[in-house]
Amino acid sequence: MTATAKAKSTCPQCPQPGDKGEWYHFFAMVFDVKKARELAEGEEIVHVTAAQLVQYGIRGERLAPTARTFKVGLAGVNEDHLQHIPVEALDRPLLFATLPTLVVGAANHVLIDGSHTATIKVRRGDEKIAAVILSPELSRECCERGWQEMARGFSRRARQSR
Ligand SMILES: [Zn+2]
Repeated sequence: MTATAKAKSTCPQCPQPGDKGEWYHFFAMVFDVKKARELAEGEEIVHVTAAQLVQYGIRGERLAPTARTFKVGLAGVNEDHLQHIPVEALDRPLLFATLPTLVVGAANHVLIDGSHTATIKVRRGDEKIAAVILSPELSRECCERGWQEMARGFSRRARQSR
């Protein structure tokens, strides 16, 4: 077994034998990433800039050796896992879901797939990075849990602040 293969087998972010799927958690919401990829096929490809991704939380530089992960949205990017990303994954567009409600002052798009490939691309100097922004309808379709609660929660908060 090579060193990389061994690291992959213990990597919390690499797919492991027996895994049922890939999930992205955002507060109470759970997105089915595999389903999202299927739904994204044939959707319009847009380009986001490296600067936008850095603003979102992608780190342009490698972290200090003592820090292994950084937060993007609520998902961590793992420095070690960056070495495990297969080359073909770099051909896939980043996937953003649109949240049920526009939250004033916050992004209403969350990066549900591609935080590691985004990091690789920003670091190698790509300026424009291909992405699919799923419509609210498609986002809802790949949201396994939490969509209603999120929509209700935000509208309740909006009412209270009035
Ligand atoms: Zn990994």
